[in-house]
Formats: sequence, structure tokens, C-alpha cells
Amino acid sequence: MRLSSRELFFVYYFHSKSDHSVMPVISPHPDSFAGFLQELVDARYLEGSANGITKQVIHQGCESLTGAQEAVFQREVIDPYVRKKCDCCGNTIPWPEMFQAIRTSRCLACIIRD
Ligand SMILES: [Zn+2]
Repeated sequence: MRLSSRELFFVYYFHSKSDHSVMPVISPHPDSFAGFLQELVDARYLEGSANGITKQVIHQGCESLTGAQEAVFQREVIDPYVRKKCDCCGNTIPWPEMFQAIRTSRCLACIIRD
């Protein structure tokens, strides 16, 4: 498996209309964030409105959410499941590695190194 090369990643921002906060999002390409969300849906981590809102983001993007939907998405999906930094090396965890990081809180490079 090819490990993440940091220069491949670019930063874009998820703007929350509800509270004007800005969350940095790292992605090797635009589909990888959606790929992570699909893994959450497939693993049945999400319930009720959070599940429906996440499916909407997968298919229509964050821009399609209302302010109220964004607040739910932030509170029930981003906050509990997104690990911003690896507990071991401190590097930002890329989206393709994010699903396993829910349990490990570590990037793939650190898991392989152990
Ligand atoms: Zn690490």
C-alpha cells in the first residue's frame, strides 16, 4: 500500500453557516471525504437524521445542506468521528485513513511502524 505523501494533499475548508466556524479538511482528491462518509454509512455508525444528512453530503456536497443540517452534521458526524491529528506523530490524518483512525487515533504510517 502506498503511504500518504503530504504534498499530494490540499486543504479546503468546510464552512459552517450556522456558527461561522471553519473546519480545515484535508483531502488527496475531492472524492476521499465522500469515501470516508460512505464508510461511516456502510458501517452503520450513523442514525436517523445524521445518516440521511451524511448521504446527502456524499451525493450533493456540503454546500447542499441548510444551516440546521450543517449543525447536525458537525455535531453528530464530524465531531465524534473525525480525528484531526495522529496521536503518535501529530501529522494530519488523511481522509483515506480516517475510518481506521476512529478506533486507533493514529495514521497508517504509525500503525505500520509498530
Ligand atoms: Zn502518525
